[in-house]
Amino acid sequence: MKKMGELLRQGARMLSDACPECGTPLFQLKNGDTICPMCNKPVKFVKGDADPQAEAHKKRLEESLRKKIDEIQTRLDEADDPVLIGELTDTLMKLMDALDRAKKLGA
Ligand SMILES: [Zn+2]
Repeated sequence: MKKMGELLRQGARMLSDACPECGTPLFQLKNGDTICPMCNKPVKFVKGDADPQAEAHKKRLEESLRKKIDEIQTRLDEADDPVLIGELTDTLMKLMDALDRAKKLGA
């Protein structure tokens, strides 16, 4: 318990996750490391156990981008002005690129 207070004073953040070994709340240090104050060792999260909030964020971003891609694609189908077609194609490319990057987030 004393150690936890010390960590907080050092600017560490208490996480909502608990140590898989002893159940003590984990702390994230200023340098980004996650440690258990009881086991006194860094905790590495297993892959696939990603931050659910970040995961939800990523899903939302992907959804928004997909929706926009659909919208732009519909407009592109109807467009006959070469300038507009160029602009829409540019936008489409950017959106697809963004979607590609969003998919790789946290991977
Ligand atoms: Zn522990």
